[in-house]
Amino acid sequence: METVNNKLKKRYVLVVEDEEDIVRLITFHLEKEGYLVEGAGSGREALEIVSEKTPDLVILDIMLPEMDGLEVCRRLRGNSQTASIPILILSARKEEFDRVLGLELGADDYMVKPFSVRELVARVRAMLRRLEQRIDPDLAAKDNANAAEKIIRSNDIILYPERHQVTVRGEERSLTHKEFVLLELLMENAGKVLTRDILLDKVWGYEVEVDTRTVDVHVRYLRQKIEADPARPFYIETVRGVGYRFVKT
Ligand code: CA
Repeated sequence: METVNNKLKKRYVLVVEDEEDIVRLITFHLEKEGYLVEGAGSGREALEIVSEKTPDLVILDIMLPEMDGLEVCRRLRGNSQTASIPILILSARKEEFDRVLGLELGADDYMVKPFSVRELVARVRAMLRRLEQRIDPDLAAKDNANAAEKIIRSNDIILYPERHQVTVRGEERSLTHKEFVLLELLMENAGKVLTRDILLDKVWGYEVEVDTRTVDVHVRYLRQKIEADPARPFYIETVRGVGYRFVKT
């Protein structure tokens, strides 16, 4: 009986992407999470598939042959059958401009290539969870009751480790995986100085080709996303010659 329930619950994700390697990579990792995954190599193919079987979530590349991802997004949103399917847009860094447009067209989330698959899986999980809560208010209530969800808070910043989300003054900020881990580490150790070496070790671990300047660069990005005035940071303080300290509030 349980198996039947699990089967019914299996979520169906459509990956619209013309680069087969990326489709394979995403498929592998989402299937490992228990999702049903299908790939579409063009916008047209995606719309055909969707007209036959409605996905629970669409991962949508922008640069596609024939019809681009923004047009696919527009059409999905324009059809009442598909208007509420969560859409996660993927795009190369140089198409940064598309971000605003994508979100205006109603995409729910946005990731820049090259992306971390772990982060992608976390975002997909979070999006489907929100969807389940939308469908089943009881589940949402139960979820709230189980408010044992860990949060880390400092003044205006709330970090939700499980959901991989950060809000600043009530607004969600889009952080890369590394920025997220870095912020989590700093916040967990608020008031303590963390050296660049420690940060490098904990956030980047065994990755090659990174040095302590990588830490500085990421701190700079992070400040731009969380500080009211990145030039005069309130939250992340530089401790000269040593490292960084998150303000204790
Ligand atoms: Ca592409």
